[in-house]
Amino acid sequence: MHQLTLAEIARGLADKKFSSEELTKVLLARIAQLDPQLNSFISLTEDLALSQAKAADARRANGESGALLGAPIAHKDLFCTQGIRTSCGSKMLDNFKAPYDATVVAKLAAAGAVTLGKTNMDEFAMGSANESSYYGPVKNPWNLEHVPGGSSGGSAAAVAARLLPAATGTDTGGSIRQPAALTNLTGLKPTYGRVSRWGMIAYASSLDQGGPMARTAKDCAILLQGMAGFDPNDSTSIDEPVPDYSASLNGSLQGLRIGVPKEYFSAGLDPRIADLIMASVEELKKLGAVIKEISLPNMQHAIPAYYVIAPAEASSNLSRFDGVRFGYRCENPVNLIDLYKRSRGEGFGPEVQRRIMVGAYALSAGYYDAYYLKAQKIRRLIKNDFMAAFNEVDIILGPTTPNPAWKLGAKNSDPVAAYLEDVYTITANLAGLPGLSMPAGFVDGLPVGVQLLAPYFQEGRLLNVAHQYQLNTDWHTRTPTGF
Ligand code: GLN
Repeated sequence: MHQLTLAEIARGLADKKFSSEELTKVLLARIAQLDPQLNSFISLTEDLALSQAKAADARRANGESGALLGAPIAHKDLFCTQGIRTSCGSKMLDNFKAPYDATVVAKLAAAGAVTLGKTNMDEFAMGSANESSYYGPVKNPWNLEHVPGGSSGGSAAAVAARLLPAATGTDTGGSIRQPAALTNLTGLKPTYGRVSRWGMIAYASSLDQGGPMARTAKDCAILLQGMAGFDPNDSTSIDEPVPDYSASLNGSLQGLRIGVPKEYFSAGLDPRIADLIMASVEELKKLGAVIKEISLPNMQHAIPAYYVIAPAEASSNLSRFDGVRFGYRCENPVNLIDLYKRSRGEGFGPEVQRRIMVGAYALSAGYYDAYYLKAQKIRRLIKNDFMAAFNEVDIILGPTTPNPAWKLGAKNSDPVAAYLEDVYTITANLAGLPGLSMPAGFVDGLPVGVQLLAPYFQEGRLLNVAHQYQLNTDWHTRTPTGF
């Protein structure tokens, strides 16, 4: 039963092959048995899951239907869940029970999804390896000595290991697409504003976006359907009708113009990954797509710009964790300044402290123009590059990451080495564009992802291309040994 996709689960529930309660029990038992190897969950919500599953079964018995009704999922632990610990992977929020549900959580619960738990993540979503979590690193089910990617590494490892069919993630600079690539999943970062950020603990507000992680494009369509939509509580959420994503999965690729940026194939890219990306291009050509070389000339400036803007916004967002209002408070403060200093010094881990310092520096009066303003200008140039490219092509294709999953600890002493792994993903966040990563093969037994980018609000196009590719390839069906 644990091999079923969301789409297959929906069919099985509709055909009364099994109940949501039965399925939920099977998966909870599987998590109890296998997760100790992976550490993909921070909290399990067994009681909530069983009551949601029973309620979903009752709704079905009353004639209701719906692709998510009774479907087991999990939430990255930065989505607020009422009455349940919402830690953001940090000691700072280890004792924090959210007083309300994030919009995404509430919408999925209303659609009948069953929450099995909250997944592990890099602290405050800062990282690409899931090693900065207060709750310890997550292991990659494809090789337990390797990282699963981050920051949504818990969601990725859990879904890849078939502990559950799908989970939510968030993507500020790649945190859905990169762990999806490193664990053989399909993951989608929607257009900025497509999914509400209300109740999603903020890292960098102008970049953060929630989205689905699953094994197939079809399942991402189902989960995105439950997440997307306008939310008056999020002032950056966009009031655009939500299309039927599953209905967009049957478009022909005949004549689809795919752009491959020449800047993507530079020295930093593992040549074996380059070969797999070109193989995926050949596959799409067979389906009728037309390939064009394009250029994104400002791509080389993306990492420096992102690693100014994201920390700047983080330094502001994280100022709320002051030891007073919520979260961790140090013992026996001697005065208010001591309370602030020690609560933050003891509550935040080293990567979060580094980003707060970088961000506060970039925003400080003397350096604002030189760093923050400059980075914002680069951001506009990057967006302009994409706009020009999308005049010529329908989709942009390339690698999701320059390397496969690295060994645990391998990049710990060199933060910049880890930042460089984001080179292909962060441009979509800087421009606000939707992006998807899907399985495209293996290198040394480790999964490789191909990334597709599309114009604003063309999530359906991304999902369709991925779905057509998955109808003709079987990379996404491979299961890690032992799971
Ligand atoms: N690796 C990037 C960072 O550390 C992206 C993280 C994310 O998307 N949340 O900022």
